[in-house]
Amino acid sequence: MSIYGVNYLKILDKTCFICGSKIFATSLQGDYIKCVACGHETIKNYKHQSFIINEILSVEGINKQGLLDKFKQKVLKKCTVTNDFLLDVGSASGKFLYHNKSFFKRCAGIEVTEECISFAKNHLGLEIVKDISEVTNNISVATFWHSLEHMSDENIQKILDVINSKSSDDTRVIISVPNNESLQYALFGDRYAYYDLQSHIHQFSVKSLDKLMEKYGFEKQCNFYSFPYSSFGYLQGFVNLVNPIHNYLYYRKKRGQTFTKSKGKILFLDIYNFLFLLLFILPSLLFSIHDLIHLDKGSVITACYKKKITNKQVY
Ligand SMILES: [Zn+2]
Repeated sequence: MSIYGVNYLKILDKTCFICGSKIFATSLQGDYIKCVACGHETIKNYKHQSFIINEILSVEGINKQGLLDKFKQKVLKKCTVTNDFLLDVGSASGKFLYHNKSFFKRCAGIEVTEECISFAKNHLGLEIVKDISEVTNNISVATFWHSLEHMSDENIQKILDVINSKSSDDTRVIISVPNNESLQYALFGDRYAYYDLQSHIHQFSVKSLDKLMEKYGFEKQCNFYSFPYSSFGYLQGFVNLVNPIHNYLYYRKKRGQTFTKSKGKILFLDIYNFLFLLLFILPSLLFSIHDLIHLDKGSVITACYKKKITNKQVY
C-alpha cells in the first residue's frame, strides 16, 4: 500500500505496544519500524548485547558536576512535590542519585550492569536494586535519564505498572529520551548523535511517549528545553558528517575510548575532530535556538508527568 509516496507496511502479527495500531512504515534509515498512528519506532533486528558502561567509573569523575548534571538537577527540583523517595531507573554509575540524594529522605537506583552496581554501592554508598519488584516504597519522583529507549516492551510495561501502583497525586515521573521527530534526526539521519542501533530498542516520538504514560495513569505536566542535550547533539551531529567513527568526541570524553592502538593515529583523530568541533560550534549554537522555540522538534524529549486526575463520583 502506498499513501502520498510513502510505503506503508501492514504487519498483521505485530501490534504497536503503545497504541495497538497494526500499520507500520519503515523509519528514515530503515533500521526501525515506525507505527503510523503514534509515531513510535521499534528496532527491526535487535541483537541483545552486554550493556555498555557509559562512563568512567571513578569517584573523582562523579564529583564533577557538568552542565548536563546541573540541567538534570534543575528539572528534578522543579518537578518534585514530595521528598520521600527518589527512584532512578537505569542509574548507571549512580552519579545522578549521588548529587541529588540530599534532597530526599531515601533514594534508590535500578541498574543491571554489575560493574555499575558494585561501584555505586561500594564507592558512593547508594542503594541499588536489579529489578523493580525489589522497590517497596511509595515513589515521590521516578526518573529515566536516557534509559527507557534501552528496555524491552515487556520490561517497560512491568516497570511503569509498578510505578503506577506505588504513586500518588504528588508523584512525578521525569523521562528523557531521544526524539525521533527532532530536526537533528531529520538533518543527520543515522549520523544523529542519539542514534544508537547497538542499544536503542525504541525511538520515541512526543506522541508515543505521552500515549505510553497515559496508559499507565500519567499525563504530561511540562516539557523542558535542554541546552546541553541540544547543543551537544548538533555539534556531534555535524562532526559525525565528516567523521566515519560515530560519536568519536563523545566516546573519547565520556568513556575515554580510543579506536586504534597507534598513538600517532589517536593524536591525528583527536586533532581532526577538534578542528571540526571548533568550526561547528557557532552553527550548533544557532541551531539550538530552533530547539528552544520548537520543543516538540528538539533533539531529545525531556518531560515531566503527573498522575492523571480521574473524576471521582461524589455520592
Ligand atoms: Zn503506535
